[in-house]
Amino acid sequence: MPPEKPHWAHLLQEVVRSGLCTGCAGCIIACPHDVLKYDDTNGVYKPWKVEADGGPEDCTHGAKGCTMCTRACPRFRAWESEVDTFLFGRERTVDEVAGIALDTVLARAAEPAVNQAGQDGGLVSALLIWALEHDMIDAALVSGVEGDGTSWRAVPAVARTREEVLAAAGSRYTYSANTLAYPQAIEAGADKLALVGMSCQASLPAVMSARKAGKVARRLALSIGLLCSKTFDDAIFPELFEARYGLARADITKINIKGVFQIWTRDGGYHEVPLKEGHAWTREGCKSCPDFAAEHADIATGGIGAFSDWTLTIVRTEQGRQLMDGALADGVIETRPVDDDPEAVALLRRLARVSRRRWPEDAAEGPGRIPVAAKPA
Ligand SMILES: Cc1cc2nc3c(=O)[nH]c(=O)nc-3n(C[C@H](O)[C@H](O)[C@H](O)COP(=O)(O)OP(=O)(O)OC[C@H]3O[C@@H](n4cnc5c(N)ncnc54)[C@H](O)[C@@H]3O)c2cc1C
Ligand code: SF4
Ligand code: SF4
Repeated sequence: MPPEKPHWAHLLQEVVRSGLCTGCAGCIIACPHDVLKYDDTNGVYKPWKVEADGGPEDCTHGAKGCTMCTRACPRFRAWESEVDTFLFGRERTVDEVAGIALDTVLARAAEPAVNQAGQDGGLVSALLIWALEHDMIDAALVSGVEGDGTSWRAVPAVARTREEVLAAAGSRYTYSANTLAYPQAIEAGADKLALVGMSCQASLPAVMSARKAGKVARRLALSIGLLCSKTFDDAIFPELFEARYGLARADITKINIKGVFQIWTRDGGYHEVPLKEGHAWTREGCKSCPDFAAEHADIATGGIGAFSDWTLTIVRTEQGRQLMDGALADGVIETRPVDDDPEAVALLRRLARVSRRRWPEDAAEGPGRIPVAAKPA
């Protein structure tokens, strides 16, 4: 039997239609024939294939041996064990529920302007600025905001300068497939890219490298992940925040999630919306997602914990450590021991456990490979 060459028809059946697809758009940027497109209308957030070259359900390039889309997909078959082994030389143990890590610290941007621009400690922005200025990367794929910045419509964007990094700082809780800014970055001449994104996107650079997904894999030089238990469809703004709470998106200055939606408005007001009211706008791809902690990022970052202007920072790879060490040595960031906030680590593990239980028992491989009896309680 010749070896199987899985392509779009397999991806469609095993990931897109099975509910495992996160909408990360990795398959789209990896496709060398440009036959995959992205549907982010009406809460879909999934890839689809153009009519040409085999129709929507098959692919003539795949039939001839192209496997790029399945190589790129961080939910295709044994993705977790493959990427763990590629990145760390082993699979995570059952106890490593939040993934394999070298260090966990609290960290923040030392410069007040960067710290204040950030969602938590501004660590992500500080690291991106340092990496750009030290030629570690020449562009970052981030999430911008459509229009004049008041729309809260998250859109994939390219940041090449300090100003562009700061303009994209902060968290939008709707989905932004930052991966889709890749062609724009390449057209502008970039060759070494950082990908900033939710846990599902943060696995992309490593999965593409592990499965040798061509030049896209080589160009995604750094992965900075954002801890994540879910993202919402943009319709949550008009249908929940505005319709039920009278909070128009143009009046909102900041949103955070700490057990509730915390919403600050231009008039100086502060509002809370129960998180459970947002469930109806949860994207489908999040419902089976097992990765809270961006387990394959070089550096994973989150806002849980007692200190609102520090970022909980999980350094996972040697490359991540070099970046942290360089920025620390230059005084661009500061750190403190995570033991200063033991509850943050306890919560990280709790939330990671909750997400892991989402991986369907009947899914081919991945986190579900851990026998049920051995799963963390
Ligand atoms: C949708 C979402 C859900 C999150 N859920 C949790 C959670 O449950 N628990 C937790 O501890 N932390 C969560 N985080 C992470 C947290 O909000 C911060 O992003 C993280 O702590 C880094 O903070 P910072 O100040 O260092 O980053 P900043 O310096 O503010 O940089 C943040 C970076 O994230 C990018 N970004 C913003 N919004 C998005 C988006 N929607 N999609 C992709 N990229 C984006 C920005 O462009 C920017 O580059 C979530 C973040 C997002 C975006
Ligand atoms: S999870 Fe990402 S790479 Fe996989 S099919 Fe969905 S959009 Fe494509
Ligand atoms: S829960 Fe977060 S990481 Fe998982 S699919 Fe949804 S957006 Fe991606």
